[in-house]
Parts: sequence; C-alpha cells; structure tokens
Amino acid sequence: MSQTEIDSLTGLPLLHSLYGRIAENIENGHPVGFIFFDIMQFRLVIRNYGRQVADSILARFGEIVRTRLPQICRGMDVLAVPEREDDRFVLLLLSSPRYLSVLNDITVRKTAQRVHKFFNSIISELATEFKVNAGLEFHCGHSLIPADKGVSIERLVREAQREAYLKGELDEVMITFVSNVTHELRTPLTCIKGYTENLLDGAIENKELAYKWLGIISEEANRLERLINDLLDISMIEAQQVEFQREEVDLVRLVRHTIEVLSVNAEKEQITIDFSYPPQLPELMLDSDRISQVVFNLIDNAIKYSPPHSQIKVSILQPSPSLVRVDVSDHGPGIPPNKIQHIFERFYRANRGGGVYGRGLGLAIAKCIAEAHGGTISVESTLGEGSTFSLTLPLNGSSLS
Ligand code: ADP
Repeated sequence: MSQTEIDSLTGLPLLHSLYGRIAENIENGHPVGFIFFDIMQFRLVIRNYGRQVADSILARFGEIVRTRLPQICRGMDVLAVPEREDDRFVLLLLSSPRYLSVLNDITVRKTAQRVHKFFNSIISELATEFKVNAGLEFHCGHSLIPADKGVSIERLVREAQREAYLKGELDEVMITFVSNVTHELRTPLTCIKGYTENLLDGAIENKELAYKWLGIISEEANRLERLINDLLDISMIEAQQVEFQREEVDLVRLVRHTIEVLSVNAEKEQITIDFSYPPQLPELMLDSDRISQVVFNLIDNAIKYSPPHSQIKVSILQPSPSLVRVDVSDHGPGIPPNKIQHIFERFYRANRGGGVYGRGLGLAIAKCIAEAHGGTISVESTLGEGSTFSLTLPLNGSSLS
C-alpha cells in the first residue's frame, strides 16, 4: 500500500509508520485492540474560535501524540487514525506479536485508561496555550477484536470506526437515558418527601388534610412503581429475558376488546372509533397480553392526541399472505418530520406541553414487543392532519427484520 493510500485511509498522518507492522500482525491472525477517543465540545471550538485555531490545536495534538504515544502504549504497535470528517475521533489500533499473550480485554482497558489520561492532559494544556475555553475533554471507548487470519487492515479500521461511531452515539443515548430516568424518578420522589415531611411536622393532626396528602403520596408512589415496572419491562425484553407465551390468537377479538376497554375515554371526548377487518383472517401465534398492550398503547395515544368530536380508524389488513397489519389512524396534530424518527425512543415526547400527560415510554415498549414477535411498528404522519401507526406481524412466526 502506498503512502497516499495510507493517508487516504487514515486521514491525517499520525502514526502510520507502524502501519506495515500492524498490517502484518493482522495478516498473521493476531488480535487487535482498538480504542477510540471522541473530543467532546470540539465543534464548539470550530464555531467559537474558527477553523484555523481548531486545525492548529489538532496539528499540535498530532505532533505530541506522535512522539509520546508509543511509550505510553508500552511497546505495542500502534496505529492512530484521526477521523477526517469532523476531526473529532482518534482511533488507536493496538497489536503486537510480542505482546500476544498479554493483549486481552484487561490490557486494552488499562492502555485505554493510560492513553485517556494522557490525551486529556495534552488537550487541556493546548486549550490553555490557545486560550480556548470550551471544556475540551476526551471520551473514550475500547474493545478487542479477535482478528481472523487474512482480514485486511482497511476492513478492520472501517469496522472499528463504525463501531466507535456507534459507541459514541450509544454513550450519548445512555447519558440522556440516565438523565431522563433521574428526572422522572426525582419528580414523584420530591413530592412524596415534601408531603411526608409536612405530615411529620404536625399536619397529621388535621385528619382531613392528612387523608388528602396521603392520597397524593400513594398516587405518586404508584407512579414511581409504574415507571420502574415499565423500565424493567423494556430492559427484560431487550435482554431477551421475557418469555413470550405464544398461543393461537383471534386478532379481531383482541382488537375489539381493546377498543371496548378504551371506549370510555373516547366517549368522554366524543371521539368515535371505527373498526374494520377482513372477513377471514388466519389465527396468529402471539403472546396475546403483550400484543394487547401494543394495540392498547396505539389506540390510547390516538385518543389522547385526537381533538374532541373526531374519528379514529382502526383497521386490520392482510397486505400479503404472510403478513397481517393493524393500522390506527387519527386526526390529531401529527408529528413533525424531524421528530418522527425519535418517537420510539425511551422518554421521547414529540409534543411536550401539548396538555397531554405521558412519559414517552409506551411506544418504546410497543416497539420491543413488536420486534420480539418478529414484527415491526411504524408511523406515517402529516402535520396538522393526523397520524397512522402500523403494527405489522408475520403470520408464520418468521421475522420481518
Ligand atoms: P407518551 O404518549 O406517554 O408520551 P409514547 O411512547 O406512547 O409516550 O409516545 C411518544 C410520543 O410520540 C408522544 O409523547 C407524542 O409526542 C408522540 N405520539 C404518539 N402517538 C401519537 C399520536 N397518535 N399523534 C401524535 N403524536 C403522537
């Protein structure tokens, strides 16, 4: 491989002098450790201080890394691959036949920790040197790839880059998730604490008030319990720890029953629900409680987001001999196109403040259940006109995905 080709593969030339050695290790089937670093807030530097300052910081960073990294990686062959797109990722590939016996998850993790410390100290020194106040800091992830004989370094780099991106995104999802959970837990907890303290401070003597407040405490405790159960539910389904009790299900009956249960809510708003289904439908092998949960969520949402006096259409269709679909259409506000891809994420709420209470977990659970049945859940929506949610299930128990 020529120098230009290496450059085009690795972006900026950081440590590609070791390219040949690593390529050889990989060709010989040695495992490869990869560590990726993501400079947090780097975009802020580009935006607030300009591209030139950002480039100078990266160039200086590259120089320091080139001279000191091999020592920090203690004799490993190291290839550093800066990501050119937005200059935020640095990917390290570690390999060495000499260290074969010690290249394992633990050594990769320890190396990652050492390099992480080193990178953070350089970047904070550079921030001071360039008078950049942007909270520059590296996030780090690592893993060990058991290299197959004959796999090319190009493929490994690409796979590692893809995985690094995914991990980076996952980290962000995780951070948002934890902050959402904390928020959702804190709200009822604060309420429970406040009312309990007031009761202990003497309000318990006022029987009427005490009953009222104990009622609120009990409601908030129930809310906490529901939240915890929902979260546990998602995690268990995702971890495939939930056993689905598949049985022959009459889908028309199941949907009709759900509509009946929810009709009280619809009637309150004078919303009518129209239900249509094909004259004949084969029985499906489903976990009926779980699929009821999905259908319930879709119809419940349709009612929640529909204006009074409007109509909801629920239809069962058989788009092909091997598929069955439940469509739930409403004339609600619709979902903005830029938000539609997020609504199946945990805690995501597209129209907060629209006066509708929700935790943004129903669709996330519905998606998990649909996928665990080999099915899918999707939505089509036009802003100001309404939305159609579709649950599609395979008839023969195979998977659609
Ligand atoms: P929740 O309704 O409890 O907030 P869901 O997970 O069921 O949680 O829904 C996530 C988000 O998707 C909702 O907050 C809402 O913004 C949007 N959404 C769901 N169903 C509809 C619908 N029928 N019409 C408009 N928006 C909807």
